[in-house]
Amino acid sequence: MTKTTQEIQSIDNTHHLHPFTVHHELREAGPRVITRGEGVYLWDSDGNKILDGMAGLWCVQLGYGEQELVDAATDAMKTLSYYNTFFQTTTPHATRLSQLIAEKTPDGLDQIMFGCSGSESNDTAIKLIWYYWNLQGKPEKKAIISRERAYHGSTVAGASLSGLPFMQGIFDLPLPRFHHVGPTPHYYEYGNSDESEREFGLRCAKAIEDKILELGPENVAAFAGEPVMGAGGLMLPPEGYWQEVERICRKYDVLLWSDEVICGFGRTGEWFGCQTYGYTPDIMTMAKGISSGYQPLSAVAINKRMSDAIVNADSEMAHGYTYSGHPVVCAVAVRNLELITEKKLVGERGQATSEYFLKQLSLLDDHPLIGQTRGVGLLGGIELVKDKTTRERFSPDGTAGVTCRNHCFKSGIIMRAVGDTMFLCPPLVITNDEIDELFRLVRISLDLTLEELK
Ligand code: PLP
Repeated sequence: MTKTTQEIQSIDNTHHLHPFTVHHELREAGPRVITRGEGVYLWDSDGNKILDGMAGLWCVQLGYGEQELVDAATDAMKTLSYYNTFFQTTTPHATRLSQLIAEKTPDGLDQIMFGCSGSESNDTAIKLIWYYWNLQGKPEKKAIISRERAYHGSTVAGASLSGLPFMQGIFDLPLPRFHHVGPTPHYYEYGNSDESEREFGLRCAKAIEDKILELGPENVAAFAGEPVMGAGGLMLPPEGYWQEVERICRKYDVLLWSDEVICGFGRTGEWFGCQTYGYTPDIMTMAKGISSGYQPLSAVAINKRMSDAIVNADSEMAHGYTYSGHPVVCAVAVRNLELITEKKLVGERGQATSEYFLKQLSLLDDHPLIGQTRGVGLLGGIELVKDKTTRERFSPDGTAGVTCRNHCFKSGIIMRAVGDTMFLCPPLVITNDEIDELFRLVRISLDLTLEELK
């Protein structure tokens, strides 16, 4: 028999620990219970229909309930429900997926290793980077540089790589070898009034160079960054930033690592964010949109420079997971990538949807609560401020974000908040009519937020 909302909440409160949660607060309020999804919409256990402006956790590129992905999973599960890729074995779906990904990555990044989550792929990347430098006879090259406010996952290594102190101190992280640089490349917040966006971008890149020189280039293994910083605050790179970062990495022989976990698979308009911003990394990590979130899957792609060393090594690459290249998971991802291609979500349709989305996003600029809107592809960020001209925030920090997020839910739209920045990241299949509906609901939520904060 179907359980009531209260029954589910009661059981959840008794047994279930949730990610990134203050548990006594959750248990006082009781979790929201989501029961069904179709297209860009979700339904909760009380029957409320909610437009998912966040594609789950930035991942449901094809929207919910895509029958073709259900069929791909069912067929694969019936044929071969599990087998591994250890001990000189493969499966057709894992093989096909590695080929499909290699066709989409920038030139040369055509060697693929699978995992089950973005964090796992970042752990794999770190180990491959360290292994590579050991194979090169440069074992001292181990430091990894990333940016303040970056989010790269929550395993021990992912949290160490992230530049978010609230995820680190309580666990005695980061581990040694991880270094974070600022300013974070976000002109709106960190740019000086006397510098152009381009000058600011060069200043941010210079901070990376300074850190490399401080640590000694002979000790620095890699620089890791997301093309667009997502969970840390939806921060778009300043003009010219990535080209300068690439130049600096090449100058000091530091591997360039693009974390494409959010930006990959059409989110910024191209297959990968590094293609949108015009740089070529040595190593890429990806997850989320790779399977539209229908199955837990991630991958690492490395270029020839790294793979030649690894493939020709005498030592065993003693790394991998029980579910690396899981046949059912890979079958779903293969069909997902085929559908993204067939539906032209990277291409004509994706471009037209993005243009419409970004236009509607910019129309919010006149709202009294909004200090800035910004976006690329189907990613949107909205800064909530008390005063549009001085950019003064509400106090304490995050008040407006939480208030707005709550009004969004009540109004039937999901937007996520970090501090006073609201994010939008709808499924790539969203139609123009649904985009109209999305922004109608966002505006209602903003009006209600303003009313409450006045
Ligand atoms: N890297 C980036 C850029 C992410 O945004 C995330 C998750 O949001 C991760 C890594 C970690 O992915 P997962 O939650 O699948 O471990």
